[in-house]
Parts: sequence; structure tokens; C-alpha cells
Amino acid sequence: MSNDFRDDAIVLHVKNWQTADKYAVCFTREHGKIRFIVYGGRYPKNVAGRLLQPFAQLSLEVIAGQRIDKLKSCELLEMPQAFDFKQMAYAAVVTELTAIFTEDHQPQPEVYELLEETLKLLRERNPRIVVLSFALKLLELVGLLPQVEACGVCGCIIGEEDAWFSPLQGSAICKDCHNPSGEEKFSLGTSNLFKHLKNLDFQNPAPFSIKGGDLMELEAILYKFIMFQTDKPLNSISFLSQMGM
Ligand SMILES: [Zn+2]
Repeated sequence: MSNDFRDDAIVLHVKNWQTADKYAVCFTREHGKIRFIVYGGRYPKNVAGRLLQPFAQLSLEVIAGQRIDKLKSCELLEMPQAFDFKQMAYAAVVTELTAIFTEDHQPQPEVYELLEETLKLLRERNPRIVVLSFALKLLELVGLLPQVEACGVCGCIIGEEDAWFSPLQGSAICKDCHNPSGEEKFSLGTSNLFKHLKNLDFQNPAPFSIKGGDLMELEAILYKFIMFQTDKPLNSISFLSQMGM
């Protein structure tokens, strides 16, 4: 029985492997996240090695190996449009989050579609907002979306009022249950922004206005929550903060 397959893929991560090869992690339309070796991928004349760049959308043919899969062939699906520096820094958050929060060979076509739409939208809209919205949508698709409608301690419904957020519990906390250690402010504006960005229509994003304070508050709680999930800071998010973006 052969497990070879052909599929559309978005490149999440590529690195050099031994002297002449490349190692790539991709997210595919039908086969979820995959990783494979591209033998000879570092030679300048190797077409696959040249096409396998982060964020590229490719059609791949993969041969299942005993220990690791290998790439048989690849073709460009769409000519990649160049990202500017800022868009690229945000796109790196998108690919790193996808790599961290998905499992190998677990088909999640909706994650593929989200990736595809996000990388397009990053070129057209404010990348900071797009990435925040992407992060919420991805967390929802992988079943890790923080709970913000009800208090994580007493379960009461948090209405139209300011509350708190516990990155450790991944939940909003009501005023009565608030414990000053380790909980972040979660104002009504931030809560509304959370819901708005989670449901934002990427095909047809309607214009909306955002308060800078709400945006910063939402980024702070979400990135802290992600850090609790992953146990370490993401390289791409550390890079953004070093660059003051
Ligand atoms: Zn409570």
C-alpha cells in the first residue's frame, strides 16, 4: 500500500538540512500539516528547493518514507506576491501559530482556507489586525479559543461591563472573582473587539474602527494566553515586539 499523495500546500517553514538538502513544514488542503525532506533542495538548480519559500502556495507530490516523507515534485500554484518587511513579519506569526497549533497528518481543510485567505488579506489590510483576527479564528478551529462570554471561576455571564482575563485559565473573570495576581484587564471594548475580529469576514471585510487601547489590550491577553499554551514565547511575536511593531 502506498501512502504517496498529491496536494495543495502552503509553506510554513523551511530550513537547510545536512549539506545539500532542505527540510520543510507545510500545511496542505487535504492532509493537514506535513513535513518532508527535499533531497538536493539546496542546489541552486533544484526547482523544488527554489519554490519552497515560506508563504508560497504549491502543489506537492510527496512520497511517504519509513522515517520521514520526501518531496517528489512541486509546482507553483500561484505566483507569490512580494510582502513588504512588515507584512512578512506578521506573516511569520501566521505560519508559526499554524505550525504550533496543528497536528501532523490531521486534515483540517478549514485551516488551509483560513491560511490562504489570511495571506491574501495581509497584503491588503492592516497586518496587525489581520493577524489578530487570524489568531482568534485559528484558536477556535483547533478548539482552544478562550472563553469570554462567562466567568471562568463562577460561570456567571459577563454582560456589558469591564472584566478581567486570566491567560492561565484562558477565560474572562468577573469582577467578583477577580484575583489581582496574574489577571489582565479585559475591558468591554476589548471584549467587543475580540468578538468582532473572531467573526470578521475575510472574503468581504467590512470597514470598522478600532480604539488603540482595546487593540493593545487584546494583543496583550491573547499573546500571553498563547505563551501559556506553548510554554515559550513565539519567535515571530518576539521579533515583532523587538521591532516595535
Ligand atoms: Zn465570577
